[in-house]
Amino acid sequence: MAEALSIKHLALPRDLFKEAKQYIPGGVNSPVRSFRAVGGYPVFVKQGRGSRFYGECGGEFIDYCLSWGALILGHAHPKVIKALKEAIENGTSFGMPTKLETELAKLIVDGVASIEEVRLTSSGTEAVMAAIRLARAYTKRNKIIKFEGSYHGHADYLLAKAGSGMATLGVPSSLGVPKDFTRHTVVVPYNDITALKETAKTHEKDLAAIIVEPVAGNCGVILPEAGFLEGLRKVSDKYGAVLIFDEVITCFRLAYGGAQTLFGISPDLTCLGKIIGGGLPVGAFGGRKDIMELLAPEGGVYQAGTLSGNPIAVTAGITSLNILKEKSPYRNLEEKTMGLCEKIKSFATENGIDLKVNYIGSMFSVFFNSDLFKRFFHGLLKKGVYFSPSGFEANFLSLAHSEKDIEKTLEGISEVFNKLRRR
Ligand code: PMP
Repeated sequence: MAEALSIKHLALPRDLFKEAKQYIPGGVNSPVRSFRAVGGYPVFVKQGRGSRFYGECGGEFIDYCLSWGALILGHAHPKVIKALKEAIENGTSFGMPTKLETELAKLIVDGVASIEEVRLTSSGTEAVMAAIRLARAYTKRNKIIKFEGSYHGHADYLLAKAGSGMATLGVPSSLGVPKDFTRHTVVVPYNDITALKETAKTHEKDLAAIIVEPVAGNCGVILPEAGFLEGLRKVSDKYGAVLIFDEVITCFRLAYGGAQTLFGISPDLTCLGKIIGGGLPVGAFGGRKDIMELLAPEGGVYQAGTLSGNPIAVTAGITSLNILKEKSPYRNLEEKTMGLCEKIKSFATENGIDLKVNYIGSMFSVFFNSDLFKRFFHGLLKKGVYFSPSGFEANFLSLAHSEKDIEKTLEGISEVFNKLRRR
């Protein structure tokens, strides 16, 4: 097992956190990092290598959060680091076109079947905002349907019954968002095709888009039921609405070509992020040419970004996608994930612990039907295993996770379950 952590390792972050809180609201730059859902103090990270990261105050952790899914190659992949070092020598940002942007765009267009043209942004949030703006311009309508528990970034009108940090913190909506801003957002339960059909019919004259995470990854990992995604495609077609797949997590994660390849559904627009930036800030949206052409400067839909297509970030993305294309690791990742998840399930059964483990490809979630998640999380943390610090967030495997890492993780889980049983 990665060495059991001493009290020192877990006590010192308190000081770092205290200091951070003096200058940063809540001490963090994104809410779930604060450990609010699990209690205690966040681990401050000093360094990452492969499947592991190392705390500022010591401690070595096998990482299943992986920068919220961005690091499919693991931390500090040598090829990515080498490419970044070379790229940085040429300068960090130009605000002018570079060949690198075309290279990443070509990799995306060649890799994702439904994408004919793509534009790069600096985050998933921006990508989703632009995709929705485009859908509204294309259809000349206003309403969008989203699903309960899905998270599509933090744009005002998408913070309605959202997942991720909002589910973690138990807040259905955000303060500071005028009711007017969400009045065109209609929320429907995920996997409920009947509700979707009814809602689409109600708004048929004004329905611009249906946006969905094809595998919901921000309220635990929830798989689409048979026929759900096909149903979305049919309803979108029936009412002339734009179908947007938010594949910020799933593209290049579940398959090289995304969940859309896996499930054989072709959306009109797709939003990307995380993996396409190889751990640096990149997002993208793309899809049908006739829709994408509405973007400025060709068309009248404005979207821009000072650092969009940043050469350093794009370099990490290009290198990552080339490695994924060459190695095609998806089968292997899936088998490892399945092995881990099935063992977690059987350990839970052996120990009489009521939990639900969902997984697909290399993403999974462990959802306790009780208040045990906090104890599970901290029990594992003490053993040097880092799961995402909320039962509503997905966990991930990377190419760097070895069989040995998984064995060690399972040893830790078995010990923690044993303790939970005897509490
Ligand atoms: N869409 C989905 C499905 C996401 O999971 C996320 C982030 N977790 C976003 C959009 C927003 O991306 P970003 O945090 O890069 O703005």
